[in-house]
Amino acid sequence: MALRDLVLWFMSPARRAAAEAESRRWMATCEHCQHTMSIWDMGGLRFHGAGRPVMRQKCPNCGQWSSFHVFWGGSDPAPPMHDTQLTFLSDAARAKAEEESKHWMAECPNCHAKTSIWDLGGIRYKAAGDGSWAVYRCTHCGKSGWHHIRWEGPPKSQSSS
Ligand SMILES: [Zn+2]
Ligand SMILES: [Zn+2]
Repeated sequence: MALRDLVLWFMSPARRAAAEAESRRWMATCEHCQHTMSIWDMGGLRFHGAGRPVMRQKCPNCGQWSSFHVFWGGSDPAPPMHDTQLTFLSDAARAKAEEESKHWMAECPNCHAKTSIWDLGGIRYKAAGDGSWAVYRCTHCGKSGWHHIRWEGPPKSQSSS
């Protein structure tokens, strides 16, 4: 059983249909043959915008391992990227998570632009410590690299650590 089938198995029929409909509108282009197909046709699943903007996969068209650039092919706006992680939170926690994520700033190693984790499509909530490193794609220069993440909000209380 493919992973997709396994995931779909646990969904209600309505959710399954929505997941399929969304997956059909996320498109991916092969870097070798430029063939464009939906994530669904590739045997994948992309729901609530969860997943990576670039996928490494064997192309069903040219048969080569290739990097696929994923983009939204629907006529309506793309689903927000934060949904998947936020579905598990209550409304109040969601608002706090958003606020907190906006105070965590990631510095690009290439152009040194600072972007909040939130604006990078990420989320950081109730995180302990002061700094860490993570790979992000910089929204300013477009390069991926290890971003240094620092807390730049008001001093945090020590109660959470
Ligand atoms: Zn191809
Ligand atoms: Zn940059």
